[in-house]
Amino acid sequence: MRELLGGKGANLCEMTGLGLPVPRGFCVSTEACTRYYEDGEKIADEILAEINEKLELLEKNIGKTFGDVDDPLLVSVRSGARASMPGMMDTILNLGLNDEVVKGLAKLTSNERFAYDSYRRFITMFSDVVMEIPKALFDEVFDAVKEENGCVYDTDLSADNLKEIVKKYKALYFKHKAEEFPQEPRVQMIESIKAVFRSWNNNRAITYRRLNDIPGDWGTAVNVQEMVYGNMGDDSGTGVAFTRDPSTGENKLYGEFLMNAQGEDVVAGIRTPQSLDQLREVNPKVYEEFAAISTKLENHYKDMQDMEFTIERGKLFMLQTRNGKRTAHAALKIAVDLVNDGMVTEEEAVLKVDPKQLDSLLHPNFETRALKAAKPVAKGLPASPGAATGKIYFEAKDAVDASKAGEKHLILVRAETSPEDIEGMSVAEGILTSRGGMTSHAAVVARGMGTCCVAGCSDVSINEKNKSFTDKNGKKYFEGDYISLDGSTGNVYDGQIATVKPELSGDFGTFMAWTDKYRRLRVRTNADTPADAEEAIRFGAEGIGLCRTEHMFFGEDRIAAIREMIVSKTEAQRRRALEKILPMQRKDFEGILEAMEGKPVTIRLLDPPLHEFLPQADGDIAAIANELNMGSDELRTIIRDLHEINPMLGNRGCRLAIIFPEIPEVQTRAIIEAAVNVSRKGKKVIPEIMIPLIGDVKEYKYVRNTVKETADKVLKELGAELDYLIGTMIEIPRACLTADEIANEAEFFSFGTNDLTQMAYGLSRDDAGKILDSYFDKQIYEFDPTARIDVPGVGKLMEMACKLGRGARADLHLGICGEHGGDPSSVAFCHKVGLDYVSCSPFRVPIARLAAAQAAISDKKSGEQVIHG
Ligand code: ADP
Ligand code: MG
Ligand code: MG
Repeated sequence: MRELLGGKGANLCEMTGLGLPVPRGFCVSTEACTRYYEDGEKIADEILAEINEKLELLEKNIGKTFGDVDDPLLVSVRSGARASMPGMMDTILNLGLNDEVVKGLAKLTSNERFAYDSYRRFITMFSDVVMEIPKALFDEVFDAVKEENGCVYDTDLSADNLKEIVKKYKALYFKHKAEEFPQEPRVQMIESIKAVFRSWNNNRAITYRRLNDIPGDWGTAVNVQEMVYGNMGDDSGTGVAFTRDPSTGENKLYGEFLMNAQGEDVVAGIRTPQSLDQLREVNPKVYEEFAAISTKLENHYKDMQDMEFTIERGKLFMLQTRNGKRTAHAALKIAVDLVNDGMVTEEEAVLKVDPKQLDSLLHPNFETRALKAAKPVAKGLPASPGAATGKIYFEAKDAVDASKAGEKHLILVRAETSPEDIEGMSVAEGILTSRGGMTSHAAVVARGMGTCCVAGCSDVSINEKNKSFTDKNGKKYFEGDYISLDGSTGNVYDGQIATVKPELSGDFGTFMAWTDKYRRLRVRTNADTPADAEEAIRFGAEGIGLCRTEHMFFGEDRIAAIREMIVSKTEAQRRRALEKILPMQRKDFEGILEAMEGKPVTIRLLDPPLHEFLPQADGDIAAIANELNMGSDELRTIIRDLHEINPMLGNRGCRLAIIFPEIPEVQTRAIIEAAVNVSRKGKKVIPEIMIPLIGDVKEYKYVRNTVKETADKVLKELGAELDYLIGTMIEIPRACLTADEIANEAEFFSFGTNDLTQMAYGLSRDDAGKILDSYFDKQIYEFDPTARIDVPGVGKLMEMACKLGRGARADLHLGICGEHGGDPSSVAFCHKVGLDYVSCSPFRVPIARLAAAQAAISDKKSGEQVIHG
């Protein structure tokens, strides 16, 4: 029932049903949350009534009541959405305490220290989450009292110290709110529930949803649950654990705990936690009980579990279980192990791995020899594996800015991370923190993102104000300096270290073979060079869906020829330039066709941004004019004439081929000659010639005729026979609307969703960034339509084009070659509308293979949704 109760709530119910020790409570459903927003951020009266009714029932069942000084009920109010969003939303503990109840609790438990420790925690959380008073202000007070009293850890604080803190907290609260800290437990509860609802729409939750494809209209559930106390003394504690190692996937109970602590103390890095193995010594009975529960839960959910527990005076309580986040490496090992152990089927295993995660496996590792030669300058915890080399940034915002400015390799260095840093973490290649353990925020989030992370590296001392850190040898590093991180060993290195390609066999090979078995969609790649093509084949590409011929001209030796072609004033001149281009193109095509070994190759005719090839600076113009045997002024005039106000809607695509038919003529010749040459070496080739930017069937026919006539002429000249296809890109909305007419003439369609999205939205894909940022902030858009197919709009155009197209030509071959071809949710859409293949950049090929398999398996399971984590 996770849709209604949220993941946390559903699993708490499930655990209760399994007879596990779970503190009692009730769930306020996700529907209540959506209703809260529909009603203008208000809880409707009938829902309030129901909450109160369930609270009374809870009080009756437990035998404690809210506000009872002699034996008070305290609860936690916990967020919990359908998909797990760790740390993104808020939770409040020890709710129900007030100035009188705290005294009663102290008396009841004969533990004043515990009572005031709970109260100060509650005041902090309530003030922070419900009243939005910065938590840092409370931390300042807390740290000051600690220091005055010479305390190293918060457990060193005495009851009197804690009383003093509570007094100061209340004063702080009064200063900010001009009213006393709320004393009425029911008010505390309702305000907290509302705050949790609101936390669904805090900035970090919105960003997290965007990065993880979680819709904004799901809402969060709220769990109200009886408190159990890990902070009652040395026989109490709290911890987190995984049924398998989340870094490596090793089948071994793995976790951390802290005695005399509560809630998030373990992950917040307040003291260094102990490893779960040590619990065996601290309390063997509890350890055995916990180990048995872990096994039971894993068998029940048939997946690796991430669990939270609390020990209250030697008694174990389970507070949460969920399918654990894990590294890509661990995800594959666990999937393969679960199948080998007969716990799940191959199809179930395929659904367990998040396609986006595979990315981290495909990227380089350190080159062994270079790594051996390098000497670590610090060592922390190996929190998330992988290799990262890049420039350091000390604030998430700086990292985001650098990434927007085009910096590719950057490393985020922080004392510790918090959910506010999520966007900065997502652009970083590696994360280094000086505090926190293996389950700290940085570690958990990095593993989820597949980003390399070294956590809790106390060898480095970070000066966040100065934006610098010092390594264990005393060397200082500043923003922009290079370091390298090894997330598998925890080593930190000065400078850059060479990297090598990843190994694609083992669990990866086994798992990917399963994905191939269950998918219907073929997966091709976008590749412009034989090297790209070979890389893509290693990743499992079954053909090329887009070979962009203009990309072949950026090389030094070639750009002259293409410039000459562009500035030619007569057809004769242009033909002369094209004569130079012909052999280069033929050679390129031969290389690609050979690399693809008989797999289909779609070659797109020239679709150049002409201005990118022409010089702008005076010096360059003079040099190139000289090269082209013309005066600088003459060249300047030509450049001026070629200038377009709106080049994206200008002379590109088929328009160029219509105005200068000699261009498609020469390109067709190059393609056909290359194909014949390769096929004469005994290799099968079927080139697919693709005409870009068609909006009207008459454009298509005109260029198609040129291509066809040329191809047949060349074949005749060569005395060869060869199958080839001619088709078009569908990237202008008008082409979708008239797809039946176009399909009467074209043998295949390939959706160019980059342009199609740009034109459907009327939003320039090159300038969309800033606009989208504001749209995300204001919640106008949830997702970037240039990265993920906009199903209601662009998707509808695609669906229409597929239907009209196949109506006119039943065997019309359909594919997609926009960026979206490697985006998992877009791949699922392509499966649904019946495309034959998706095509994406080489690194995304495995992602698309997995996404395609998941779409097919989910489809078979009749529309069930794929939920990760
Ligand atoms: P998150 O989703 O951020 O993990 P949780 O709702 O799980 O937030 O709660 C935060 C922490 O408080 C966790 O460590 C959890 O185990 C602890 N906690 C929540 N409710 C209770 C409770 N009723 N008794 C004791 N500890 C609790
Ligand atoms: Mg939390
Ligand atoms: Mg939790």
